[in-house]
Amino acid sequence: KAFVVSFEDGRLEEKHLLGGKGANLGEMTRAGLPVPSGFTITTAACLSYYQENRTLTEQQKQEIATALTRLEQQAGKKLGDAKDPLLVSVRSGAVVSMPGMMDTVLNLGLNDETVEGLASLTNNPRFALDCYRRFIQMFSDVVMGIPHYRFERVIEARKVERGIASDTELTAEDWREVIQQFKAIVKEESREDFPQQPEEQLHRAIIAVFDSWNNQRARIYRKIHKISDDLGTAVNVQMMVFGNMGEDSGTGVAFTRNPSTGENQLYGEYLINAQGEDVVAGIRTPEPIQSLAERMPAIFTEFREISRRLEEHYQDMQDIEFTVERGKLYILQTRSGKRTAHAAVKIAVDFVEEGVIGKNEAINRVDPDHLDQILHRRIDPNVQLNVLTKGLPASPGAASGLIVFDADHAERLSQNGKKVILVRPETTPEDIHGIVAAEGILTSRGGMTSHAAVVARGMGKPCICGCEELQIDLKQKKIIAGNTVMKEGELLSIDGGTGKVIKGQVPLIDPELSSEFQTLLQWADELRQLRVRTNADNPKDAAKAREFGAEGVGLCRTEHMFMEADRVPLVREMILAENMAERQEALEKLLPLQQEDFYGIFQSMDGLPVTIRLLDPPLHEFLPNLEELLTEVARLSVAPDTDRLLLKEKEDLLRKVRSLHEFNPMLGHRGCRLGLIYPEIYAMQVEAIFLAAVQADQAGYQVLPEIMIPLVGHVNELREMRNLVEETAIRVKEQTGHTLPYTVGTMIEVPRAALTADEIALEADFFSFGTNDLTQTTFGYSRDDAEGKFLHQYIDQKILPENPFITLDTGGVGKLVEMGVRAGRSVKPALKTGICGEHGGEKASIRFCHDTGLDYVSCSPFRVPLARLAAAQAAV
Ligand code: ADP
Ligand code: MG
Ligand code: MG
Repeated sequence: KAFVVSFEDGRLEEKHLLGGKGANLGEMTRAGLPVPSGFTITTAACLSYYQENRTLTEQQKQEIATALTRLEQQAGKKLGDAKDPLLVSVRSGAVVSMPGMMDTVLNLGLNDETVEGLASLTNNPRFALDCYRRFIQMFSDVVMGIPHYRFERVIEARKVERGIASDTELTAEDWREVIQQFKAIVKEESREDFPQQPEEQLHRAIIAVFDSWNNQRARIYRKIHKISDDLGTAVNVQMMVFGNMGEDSGTGVAFTRNPSTGENQLYGEYLINAQGEDVVAGIRTPEPIQSLAERMPAIFTEFREISRRLEEHYQDMQDIEFTVERGKLYILQTRSGKRTAHAAVKIAVDFVEEGVIGKNEAINRVDPDHLDQILHRRIDPNVQLNVLTKGLPASPGAASGLIVFDADHAERLSQNGKKVILVRPETTPEDIHGIVAAEGILTSRGGMTSHAAVVARGMGKPCICGCEELQIDLKQKKIIAGNTVMKEGELLSIDGGTGKVIKGQVPLIDPELSSEFQTLLQWADELRQLRVRTNADNPKDAAKAREFGAEGVGLCRTEHMFMEADRVPLVREMILAENMAERQEALEKLLPLQQEDFYGIFQSMDGLPVTIRLLDPPLHEFLPNLEELLTEVARLSVAPDTDRLLLKEKEDLLRKVRSLHEFNPMLGHRGCRLGLIYPEIYAMQVEAIFLAAVQADQAGYQVLPEIMIPLVGHVNELREMRNLVEETAIRVKEQTGHTLPYTVGTMIEVPRAALTADEIALEADFFSFGTNDLTQTTFGYSRDDAEGKFLHQYIDQKILPENPFITLDTGGVGKLVEMGVRAGRSVKPALKTGICGEHGGEKASIRFCHDTGLDYVSCSPFRVPLARLAAAQAAV
């Protein structure tokens, strides 16, 4: 198999070998688009390079030499030719696009001799010298590891000396001077002369691009986006075309549709007399693409036509890089464009309506994980904001946080639980960890296609770019907008959808679903087999979830009702009761409150099933903290004027808290173990459920209560509790003269329940897999301890592939789920099964639930749309 492939032989099917950039350059070349010639060195060569201790094999070197000769023939120029030199770019190109994370070298092939050839050939010494200085800068940075700023400083100093603002005003003579100084820096930093041999330049650049696969920012990016470290990158060697040849030249980047909103309109920007890096690096703020229509009308028309063709060919929104050399257009890259969730949904739905793709494909086009963004809260439009200034709306969403000026600091603060806004003149790929840590990003320079914008959109973070009225003073750590000065650490908000920079915190409101999103979800509903319910503990959440399409409540946790401030004293009274009569008294006070809770939920879930779980956590969770109480008692007992009565009260409380103290509450007296030891508690809850059901029924609502017994490990536990429910039902019937249908089921959340599911199913109308606890009990991890102490290291060291509390461990926990479903249905084919752990809102786990044949998943209200989509994807 060849290690080197010319563009005219490259195809999309070979993307795994050619990388995304290489495969698309091949595809475009074969489609006859104006792509400068070149060749791709495959990812297989990269993997071999790492295997061979970072060397290329003789065969690979030979193939590169052959491909270069072919390129020289196509170009009619030779690398290193003193009169008419071939110049190339050496470009990274991974299989999964990682914009800006790896390295690229432009203008390779220049040296002291060829630069003169280029100057006289083009009759443009300034241009040739500009290319040479760019090449020295990039090569030194990428290949020799010499920091970029050393060169930037020379250019800055030169501009100051000449009293000018922009690079384009520097003359040939200036560049000649600058190049001399650049070479001195290279010598000083690396103790070698800047390499003059073009073959050596090429070889070293190729190797540097292979090496850039493992640079820090690429590693971080892969980690965030869950891209494997073992793929390697391809390298593209391509003939240079020049956007820096004068006013009839330029370079730009454009998306075929708006990547922020999805609107079907070219979206991009360009710079006249510049090379590609200038646009994406955000050093000069570029012009919007629409103005190209006036500046270079023919080029604009041609570009629009090409972008239409590319979109049609790939059946997806494209992100295209182009360069104009003396009035001729070249396409340098196309890839499917990164976009916000909002745009992803609109584009997918529009494509169906335009007849480009089918509904199933549209459903697959939207990543459920991405939907978090749409379902996020946004700024309340009815509130007066203190708007400081406006920038380009580069990635939508609202964010508030403390102003921070550098990425490391942002990372540190966020590790300490602070929310920050990263404010920079521009961001570079080195800032990636700061972008990850920040709630939002604000830059004063750079356009909507700058690295900051692209990366932020990919991560769904709010971002504002090119906010030029904002002065950022990195030395004094402050920003100035008009008359307002804000310092590091002050609270700032941004609205990435409108570009508004706002002083202080902003009030947020719940999201609404766009009509396109509704459409997509309707298609998803037609397709999916899993039902989607919600975990809701109060009428408000239940109503919200219903609005988002929930088909019932899968888990109503009654303890949350106990924790409301005005209930806590009553709950404590109940727990602290010294005897049955006292406890009964407290319970009677709680009953009407619980009844009210359930009534509200039944109301908002009119016509849909509601699963209510009886009390689950250990009782001491409702009592004061042991240590705090100890301190209090100690303080009271030494204080000179102590109130004796109060002290006695506190001591009694302390005794009770001590007696309820458990070494391992997660495995202690909780779940149905409470119901068995204190049946009166469960009896009160069940009575409240039935009374509320009767009440709701009489008010005209359709009620379908499902009573769920938690933490069952032995069928006898469930049998006892079922009896209790049935007895209570009879009591309520006698009391009210009403009966209503109800069911009784159990959580499957300890391994023994899954293992004996056939016995348990005889007493259960439904199973709900409580995969949070089932994960804890299967792994033997206590979640609170594991996540703080060792789980993150486990994942970093790849001992576990993923956090099992986030993505269901199908190999272990999932086996128990399968076993439970199978055994349960073997004795009761109509047994209803669902999942109510947090996994019920995670796409991979939802797929597993579909494959296992569960009836429903249940998740938090804001994840319901996500679950609808993920369930459809599982069914496609
Ligand atoms: P990245 O993956 O970071 O976008 P690229 O390999 O696409 O890196 O290169 C960065 C920029 O360099 C491109 O936007 C393009 O404008 C410019 N470039 C790359 N190759 C050439 C070339 N052969 N001629 C002119 N410009 C080029
Ligand atoms: Mg690129
Ligand atoms: Mg549980």
